[in-house]
Amino acid sequence: PQTDEIPAQGIRDEYEQLTEDVRRYRYAYYNEDSPLVSDAEFDQLYRRLEEIEALHPELVANDSPTQEVGGEVSAAFAPVEHLQRMYSLEDVFSLEELQVWIGRATASVEKQGRVDELTWLSEVKIDGLAVNLLYRNGELVRAATRGDGHTGEDITHNALTIKDIPRTLKGSGHPAEVEIRGEVFIPSKAFLELNEQMVEAGKAPFANPRNAAAGSLRQKDPALTAQRPLSMFVHGIGAREGLAASSQSETYALLQEWGLPTSPYFKVLDSYDDVLKFIEHFGDHRHDLLHEIDGIVIKVDDFALQRALGHTSRVPRWAVAYKYPPEEVHTKLLDIQVNV
Ligand code: NAD
Repeated sequence: PQTDEIPAQGIRDEYEQLTEDVRRYRYAYYNEDSPLVSDAEFDQLYRRLEEIEALHPELVANDSPTQEVGGEVSAAFAPVEHLQRMYSLEDVFSLEELQVWIGRATASVEKQGRVDELTWLSEVKIDGLAVNLLYRNGELVRAATRGDGHTGEDITHNALTIKDIPRTLKGSGHPAEVEIRGEVFIPSKAFLELNEQMVEAGKAPFANPRNAAAGSLRQKDPALTAQRPLSMFVHGIGAREGLAASSQSETYALLQEWGLPTSPYFKVLDSYDDVLKFIEHFGDHRHDLLHEIDGIVIKVDDFALQRALGHTSRVPRWAVAYKYPPEEVHTKLLDIQVNV
């Protein structure tokens, strides 16, 4: 819904306050790896910001938090320009919203008369932090965090301490230049052990695996990163000169051949009903997986269709993240906190 009415002062004040809060919370989350509020609280504020902007588009400034990928580059690291933009993901918080999103993407593909080519690559949303790995002729030349999507932080030395990130790709015929995007995370079991060790050493435990992974990867001293149980799964691709693949799933097969680990939890699905079953399955089994997840990512598999759908300034129009309803804090973690 849109209105031409001039927003009341109350709305303007609320909008200003929300913008300020979202900025402050993002800074604490991305730059200090130390969130001030829960993800559910943050998502609610962000939603309200989007709602006000939809009702009062004249309030939207170019630097509104809804127009940019959240994250800055800390002065502690050298800045790295990504060859291709890194995006965030559009969130939906209910199956009704997901159905609307799928309907819109399908209609857009139908207009181009290519609905037969439409399949949905569905995968779990890993609760970690994004990395961008640049390989030239099969050699890792740079690893960076996402940052603001244009510029990330150089964490190459730290990335090289992670066993899942190969210095040299296996096989032959690698592209002259390829950016591979993945998620660095701490597996659930290793996270519990790490927190027990922290407590034994008289240190404060981490609030959750995502913060532990982000704090561990964004260290000045790679020797510290090396001591942390970091893993990585790849889930995307940026610049891709000479890459012989026409879809996301074909790319995953190629990346596996090169020795880059892809998630064991993904499937290419033909119908919306199958997507719903996938969501239900991982909703039931979310705590049986190797790592924490905060939702399911659904992507249009075909690269030509991805290009046709394009992106906004913040998110691709060919992918969406379905977020599961928030849960209570893990009891195991609570036990540890009580013991501190
Ligand atoms: P996001 O984390 O919701 O989604 C984008 C990211 O998902 C990508 O950059 C990628 O790294 C990751 N991802 C994980 N699995 C993936 C997969 N299979 N395929 C593709 N991408 C995958 O986006 P965001 O903009 O970085 O952050 C928003 C999230 O961060 C929200 O969940 C929000 O709650 C949380 N956040 C919390 C606070 C807080 O204060 N608690 C502050 C800022 C953001």
